[in-house]
Amino acid sequence: MSGKVYLIGAGPGDPGLLTLRGKEILEKADVVVYDRLVSPAILGMCNPKAKMVDVGKMPQHHKVKQSEINKLLVQFACEMPSATIARLKGGDPFVFGRGGEEALELVNAGVEFEIVPGITSAISVPAYAGIPVSHRGIATSFHIVTGHEKAESNGELSLDFENLAHCSGTLIFLMGIANMDFIAQRLMECGKDPKTPVAFIEKGTTPYQRTVMATLATAGETIVREKVTAPAITIMGGVVELGKSLAWKKNLPLSGKRLVVTRAAKQASGITARLRALGAEVIESPMIETRTLECPSVIPAVILEGRRPDRITGISSAIFDSLADFDLLAFTSVNGVESFFKQLFDAGYDVRILAGKKIASVGKITEKKLLEYGIRCDYVPEDHTGEGLGMLLRSILDERTLVNSLQTKDERCSTNSQALASSLSLSKGTEFTNLDESRILLLQGNLADDTMTKLLPQATRWVVYETLPVSELPEWKREAVESADAVVFASSSAVENFVHVSRLSSLVSRLSFCIGRLTEATARKYGFETITSDETTMDSLVKKIVEYYS
Ligand code: SAH
Repeated sequence: MSGKVYLIGAGPGDPGLLTLRGKEILEKADVVVYDRLVSPAILGMCNPKAKMVDVGKMPQHHKVKQSEINKLLVQFACEMPSATIARLKGGDPFVFGRGGEEALELVNAGVEFEIVPGITSAISVPAYAGIPVSHRGIATSFHIVTGHEKAESNGELSLDFENLAHCSGTLIFLMGIANMDFIAQRLMECGKDPKTPVAFIEKGTTPYQRTVMATLATAGETIVREKVTAPAITIMGGVVELGKSLAWKKNLPLSGKRLVVTRAAKQASGITARLRALGAEVIESPMIETRTLECPSVIPAVILEGRRPDRITGISSAIFDSLADFDLLAFTSVNGVESFFKQLFDAGYDVRILAGKKIASVGKITEKKLLEYGIRCDYVPEDHTGEGLGMLLRSILDERTLVNSLQTKDERCSTNSQALASSLSLSKGTEFTNLDESRILLLQGNLADDTMTKLLPQATRWVVYETLPVSELPEWKREAVESADAVVFASSSAVENFVHVSRLSSLVSRLSFCIGRLTEATARKYGFETITSDETTMDSLVKKIVEYYS
């Protein structure tokens, strides 16, 4: 009943090149033993509760010896019955990855294991540089060679240079940069054409990918002149020329930028995917975790004044019966929407309980989330803040017309808003002449400030989710975060928490991209340089980031 070890290939760097099987195991792993070349984005996919063990090797400076890694895997498997132990390695575990040695050790110890192949850098890194390893009429074979293996007896590279020099296929060297001058010399001595095209591809598939072209004759000097550093692939042969026409991954606006995204995990994926598509390396580092309460907790606005309840006590789900007491539900966040519906469904109800009610949303993202539940919003303020929403509802209560501060959804689409608004104010205004402030329900998190309850003192507030600050960063993330080019802040509390969990003095850069004015003010308070989006939407923020770097 020992634990099971999975030898997983993480692929060459781009997190999108991890296999589905690999991801599935990482998401449920109890332990993850990982190497230096594994990208932080992939580490971020691991079960947050997993024990993360860094056995990464720095060049020259072996952190953990291979024999110790082997022992470690056996030890975890024996000490943790039924555990899932992920051994995460760069590229493919069996391509110069010493995966075979680890598997043999597991067999000897009687530990169950599975191999999850990965995309090897040997083929994928050239592909990302537009170099096909084989090509009709140019190369009918390719050979993957280590540039590192020393002979036991004399410490020289133990490669069969005679054979390599005479094979007509593409030669691909891994770990060869430090020895490349020697390798190139030996190949030429053995008869390989000095004009053979050579490409070095550094940090392939990552936002830092760089291709440097040379020939066999100039290989050694080019590495020195261009300061090519590991990890890099060396590829030799006629196919290299194709890279000049087929190089497809270049010049993205955010290439080479490492950005930290501090949104809560569930909300981060949208902006993360977009920043990655624009070429950035994104480290997701949620500063807060939100937790849906078992059922809503009722907080009459009056009690709330001046204090924020930090521990919420649940009450019976019969609370949903009291929805009959409300005519308008106001949602102030995506979390609020998700939590409310989870509670509603868990309590055995469905959306029919909302029939006839008006729905208001703080902004476009929340509005879109509501639509996923089949709910169309009646009111969205122009100013996407709690204050904007509070003012909008206040205006309805005060029976002002819809012309100025209030903006209905239909009105936003209209070119002739004035005319439409007056017609709307007739229809909607009639409906709402009887709207009673005490029949408004606000659905919020425990940390929502009192902006809305001040504007709508008689409204009822249900707290549907709790927000808890992240208390510390795991070591692997701390390193990635501290070396980032900039941090993306989506809320004031994210700034506060970021400052709390990271060592400000260790940050390489104090640049921040902020969504909203409040967030900006908080970031400034802590000495960040701030670039703030024009609107409080992710679109606007992403646009600002791209503008800044172009
Ligand atoms: N098992 C891995 C190879 C491990 S050996 C695989 O299948 O890819 C480590 C070597 O792989 C590095 O020295 C470098 O030559 C190559 N390598 C790995 N990732 C790379 C990357 N993103 N860009 C360029 N070379 C890479």
